[in-house]
Amino acid sequence: MANPLYDELFGKHAGKDTPFLHMPDGALWTHDQFLKMAAQMAHAIVATGLVSGDRLAAQVEKSPQALALYAACAQTGVIFLPLNTAYTGTELAYFIENSGARLVVCDPLKENTLSPIAADLGARVLTLDAKGCGSFNDATVGQPQEFTPVNRTADDLAAFLYTSGTTGRSKGAMLSQGNLLSNARTLADLWRFTDRDVLLHALPIFHTHGLFVATNIVLSTGGSMIWLPKFDTDALITHMPQATALMGVPTFYARLLADNRFTAGLTAHMRLFVSGSAPMLADTHHAFEARTGQRILERYGMTETNMNTSNPFDGERRPGTVGFPLPDVELKITDPDTGSQVPQGDIGVIEVRGPNVFQGYWQMPEKTAEELRADGFFITGDLARMDEDGYVHIVGRGKDLIISGGFNIYPKELEVVLNQQPGVLESAVIGLPHPDFGEAPVAVLVADGPQDLDMTTISGAVAKTLARFKHPAHYVQIPELPRNTMGKVQKNVLRDVYGELLQTDPGA
Ligand code: AMP
Repeated sequence: MANPLYDELFGKHAGKDTPFLHMPDGALWTHDQFLKMAAQMAHAIVATGLVSGDRLAAQVEKSPQALALYAACAQTGVIFLPLNTAYTGTELAYFIENSGARLVVCDPLKENTLSPIAADLGARVLTLDAKGCGSFNDATVGQPQEFTPVNRTADDLAAFLYTSGTTGRSKGAMLSQGNLLSNARTLADLWRFTDRDVLLHALPIFHTHGLFVATNIVLSTGGSMIWLPKFDTDALITHMPQATALMGVPTFYARLLADNRFTAGLTAHMRLFVSGSAPMLADTHHAFEARTGQRILERYGMTETNMNTSNPFDGERRPGTVGFPLPDVELKITDPDTGSQVPQGDIGVIEVRGPNVFQGYWQMPEKTAEELRADGFFITGDLARMDEDGYVHIVGRGKDLIISGGFNIYPKELEVVLNQQPGVLESAVIGLPHPDFGEAPVAVLVADGPQDLDMTTISGAVAKTLARFKHPAHYVQIPELPRNTMGKVQKNVLRDVYGELLQTDPGA
């Protein structure tokens, strides 16, 4: 009997009294206690009638119990479907219907909204709150603390993660046990994780970063995590002296740097800071090194593929790049029109192939065929170039590319120049419909203080640095860029807000 995911991440820790989850209030879960709880959950899941291959949708607050649900699904062979806690009832209805989930575990506060929806779709609802209480927990009471894992292979599906769906409907990316395990092994090795590591975990666990990258690495090596419910600067500062590693989105690092208590002394015990899920400003990277003497390691991945590239553990961590393809990942940069590889240094779309690449979108064969080639390469939609040393530089999402009067404009190129201007904290460049050029760039800027930015000076500097066709038609200042929970700038929101701007005033 074998179940690779369960055996390699969870089962091998059975009987170990070593720490697994350190709670902010000082409570501790050992590996063994955690596994006993997961076994009771596995029995409770089976008792509801679910069998391997069925889907369990979970929209729950982060807690040890929420993570144990993942372990319980792994051992019962049930496909785990974690959902963003921000989703509304209408959105949840889509996920339940699309996935065909038979059991929905949600916060008690959502039960009244969800129950009729789930009932219509033939799914059952049980509850679990942030403290681990609710009808799902009640169903685990008195269950045996051991469960014989259901036989599975590496090719069997382990999880569906729905894409964030900023364009069109969200798609269920099907991830196999092998997809998750290959990435966990590769990254644990590359980033030198051991059972002595204590990861400061402040990410949500409904997304690949917090659930798979962070958690699977720690599980595969037998270390522990400081289990924070969410990002909070005070909590990170309080717990950092006990930790050895942090995984975060760029916003975590920007917020830590804004706090004077974040010093080299505070980070002295830390051996690794990882950033990903959104591009990190080179400025943040430099400021972090100046403050702490340590260099953030930036990596790149996505829901469909887990991680694809990483800056090196040893060797130069190059700001503004996502490093090299992982050892078991093939990466090429291709022409989006022809699919053929572009010369090194040219911009194209990233394609990846490897054991990390997902099995396709659930019940969307056409979408799968559009993005996953027959030869196994996945077309990521991210535009990038590879420099002469092999570092990958992401220049934006394909859908953010601006084509103005027939010329390609990569927003990142403009953003880098804008971010260097005095008084500018950060920027987002979007393409908007333009009566003459089809599309033209508009610069949305955020100041580093309360001042109004001097747009004449800024546009003058851009004019000196970049070709005429790249100059923004307009400069707009806003207090803060719209971001999703993973720190990604929501350019679609900006495009909606400023959609008509150039129709009425096409700019210079
Ligand atoms: P998600 O599927 O929500 O994880 O989003 C994946 C997308 O986030 C990728 O396709 C990239 O566009 C972006 N992304 C992830 N990591 C990075 C990074 N280090 N730098 C730039 N973009 C990133």
